Amino acid sequence: MDDNTLVCDVLIVGGGPAGLSVASTLPDDIKTVIVHQDQEIGLPVRTSGGCWMQDVDRLGIPDGMYQRVQTTEAFSDNEHATLAFGDVVPVILDTPSLYQWIAQQSDHKDRTLLLGTKFLSARQRDDGLYESKIRARDKAFDRVISKYIVDASGWHFAVLNALGLVSKPQRLGVGTEYEYPLGDNAPDRALIFVGKKVLSGYGWVFPTVLGTLRVGVGVIQPDTDKSPRELLDAVVKDKAYTDRLGLKLEGEPIVHSGILPSVAYDDRLVFGKVIRVGDSANFATPTLGEGIRICMDLGRLLGEQLGLAVKTGRDRPLKTYERRCRRKLKRDYKWGFHVNMRAAKYTHEDWNASVRRMRHLGPDALVATFRGEFPPLKIARIFLSVIRPYLRSRLRRIRAGKA
Ligand SMILES: Cc1cc2nc3c(=O)[nH]c(=O)nc-3n(C[C@H](O)[C@H](O)[C@H](O)COP(=O)(O)OP(=O)(O)OC[C@H]3O[C@@H](n4cnc5c(N)ncnc54)[C@H](O)[C@@H]3O)c2cc1C
Repeated sequence: MDDNTLVCDVLIVGGGPAGLSVASTLPDDIKTVIVHQDQEIGLPVRTSGGCWMQDVDRLGIPDGMYQRVQTTEAFSDNEHATLAFGDVVPVILDTPSLYQWIAQQSDHKDRTLLLGTKFLSARQRDDGLYESKIRARDKAFDRVISKYIVDASGWHFAVLNALGLVSKPQRLGVGTEYEYPLGDNAPDRALIFVGKKVLSGYGWVFPTVLGTLRVGVGVIQPDTDKSPRELLDAVVKDKAYTDRLGLKLEGEPIVHSGILPSVAYDDRLVFGKVIRVGDSANFATPTLGEGIRICMDLGRLLGEQLGLAVKTGRDRPLKTYERRCRRKLKRDYKWGFHVNMRAAKYTHEDWNASVRRMRHLGPDALVATFRGEFPPLKIARIFLSVIRPYLRSRLRRIRAGKA
């Protein structure tokens, strides 16, 4: 074996929330290598960090890594709704510090984290081991030999694509965000905006715990050929529009951009000894593209099951991982993707009607819709809350003799 080769049990490609969460629950003595093409964990920022207090508590995310939101509003071209989430509190995560915190959870283990290092290709050798080519900026290593590979490379599908297992997604959510100083804006008010300015997508305004305000736009390509950056420029330069949203944008913003897959959920996660997790496995909700809490949950699950697989030499724990993910996501994501495909075709009038409906949705139904959760009872409630105002108005018209 030459000096440029690393040998390990598990190679994890991608040091985002999914890959780092896998490493956080792998047993301490399992030799793990993480290759991450960026120079730092969590930077550059590629996500806007929306999440929920209940998940932050459950996942044990420390104070100081998120901003609580007290008021959330939705704007379309002609409508406005204050979103009644009841006791459920949205939060905005500070993802650089969160991801670094997740990384620290495997610092004490037998794991090597290679930053500025890109996975290039892999092949399975006759002895069943995988030989992966990597390119490190410092050229320290160029090969990794591993028993297992975890594809946690996000929308790149780097490993799956290189091994010809699943090709790169062709439909993508593409976002650009400007981060401004908070200035006079409320530190606990978040917005979403939809309509003419951002058809085939939506915009958001999120306050952060660092005293900044993130204004972003995400669209689905190729459903639209518009670039999110151009759309965002048109939003922030339109003073009448930002006044209507109640925003005061001052100072030079920092620019972030990110991409995630926007394709139907595919429940095949295990391909022999290659396993996918996170955006490479389509874990973000098809409704809003919220993925961090799901990547953390299911990444931790994969770490535990993969640990068992390495220790016992059996693949059954990996099937358990695949089955539990299917149970958690498949039904919701089928409905969610249906919503996604419909919403991508909405006209600005459809968005007006949608924001009007949000005013009538009770907290349960509203939270379920935003979280992309559609158990049958909640679907029935959502349906009722949508149909009730229509039935009432029909009844009024019948009573008035106009029907
Ligand atoms: C614009 C936008 C806004 C979003 N907003 C939210 C939100 O508000 N809330 C929320 O919960 N989720 C949000 N998401 C989704 C969320 O960011 C993702 O679901 C989550 O980051 C997925 O984590 P991951 O670890 O699977 O992939 P990523 O976070 O994409 O991490 C994968 C990492 O792998 C690295 N990598 C890729 N290829 C290679 C390679 N060949 N070699 C080495 N390294 C490689 C990449 O550099 C990347 O850092 C948003 C996404 C986008 C694009």
